Amino acid sequence: MKKILLGLLAALVVTVAIVVVRTVSLGKQVQNDVPLADLIEVDAPQAAANLSRAIRFKTVTMQNRADTDWPLFLEFQTWLKTTYPNFYGVVQSEQVLEYAQLNVWQGSDGALAPIVFLAHQDVVPASMSDGGWDYPPFDGTIADGFVYGRGAIDDKGSLIALLEGADRLAASGFKPKRTLIFAFGHDEEVAGRGADAISKLLEARGIKPYAVIDEGGAILTGMSGVPGLLASIGVAEKGYLTLKLTAKARGGHSSTPPEYTAIGALAKAITKIEASPFENGRDVVMTEMLRATAPRMPFKQRMAIANLWLFGPLVENNLRSVDLTRAMMGTSIAPTIIDAGFKENALPREAVAYINFRIHSRDSIESVTEHVRRVVDDENIEISMNDNIGSEPSPVSQIGTGPYLWLEEVINATFPDALVAPNTVVGGTDSRFFARNTDDIYRFAPYVFDASDIARIHGLNERMNVEAFAKAVQVYYLMVEKAGG
Ligand SMILES: [Zn+2]
Repeated sequence: MKKILLGLLAALVVTVAIVVVRTVSLGKQVQNDVPLADLIEVDAPQAAANLSRAIRFKTVTMQNRADTDWPLFLEFQTWLKTTYPNFYGVVQSEQVLEYAQLNVWQGSDGALAPIVFLAHQDVVPASMSDGGWDYPPFDGTIADGFVYGRGAIDDKGSLIALLEGADRLAASGFKPKRTLIFAFGHDEEVAGRGADAISKLLEARGIKPYAVIDEGGAILTGMSGVPGLLASIGVAEKGYLTLKLTAKARGGHSSTPPEYTAIGALAKAITKIEASPFENGRDVVMTEMLRATAPRMPFKQRMAIANLWLFGPLVENNLRSVDLTRAMMGTSIAPTIIDAGFKENALPREAVAYINFRIHSRDSIESVTEHVRRVVDDENIEISMNDNIGSEPSPVSQIGTGPYLWLEEVINATFPDALVAPNTVVGGTDSRFFARNTDDIYRFAPYVFDASDIARIHGLNERMNVEAFAKAVQVYYLMVEKAGG
């Protein structure tokens, strides 16, 4: 008995020792020994004025293509060309599907695979009558150290900062070894046809990029649980699918209803789908994200992450209790539209629901559709893909190797205090189309903003900090220079 107790005690001591040693050693991995980069001087008010001017072009894409003011996109591009003459002087620029722009800065070494920088020209609608805008959304007002307006972050923030940096680099006489491609889609917010066409064009030309850089990650402050700066690189992007469920039944007078009604059947189907969620758990991206952010976390969390072999299930449960991290770890189910009935005393013959899925990389359009069919299990309910718009989840890009290291080094050299961590992008970006061109897609723009400002994207009072924008110009300059060097 004594021996067993001693044995248990020894096992406990060893376990505690392992836990403590792993926790302490994880806390040490925070130093960044990359030397600070020499950054160019940037005239912050001038750069902000250009962002403000870009916001004033109301390049809004509407769900219905015909409602979009397409000629304005060409006016916007004329302005870009006059504002960034050095950049447009060194690239070969071509229009794709009329309004998307493909710019190629030819490198001298044909053996190096190009790096592609993406940014989109269009923005989502906004109106003063939405209420709550402090400044009109298309005035580009500069106030309290911010540029306000629709697109200040998404994505004119990236587009203009990238062009400011690349224009300065072109003016310096820089000659890239590696070919640099700048692709500016025109309809990211509705369908991404421009980006799709450009990626197909690159494929047809046999161009296999070394990496693609797009929006979708940034340098965040004020993240709960992670004090300080967190440079979040999107290494994966979820897929997209909306299924339309159409329940059919006998219509007629509501005084003599059949046992099977369209609305009742549809409601049951939705309940069944929500009750059968998709697998949700820690994947490689989440594991790497935890490892990267742990050094800044309080001891308790750090201990749990350093010892996932022991605390893994506990950590996963915590992650699943937060909407964002749950969405990052599995395919999500969101019933978004229900359409049925026309009169309170008449039974509809049809009831329709739309359910939006954001597909995790372990699932696919086909597996999600199959899952839903199996769960609903009702031959009177027709299940189809809505509008044929869907995208498969992206591949997971390399983390800690390949182009990730290149990007991490740029961040370490420019934001020495930032933790760099991979992340799964739960929304959609133009970069998803480039999965046909390369596995290595990184969604990251080098501007700092507060986590609370995320809600302003597609929301009210979208804004870009003037100082953060100037820094983004400096970092893009370096990023493009390193990409070409
Ligand atoms: Zn965007």
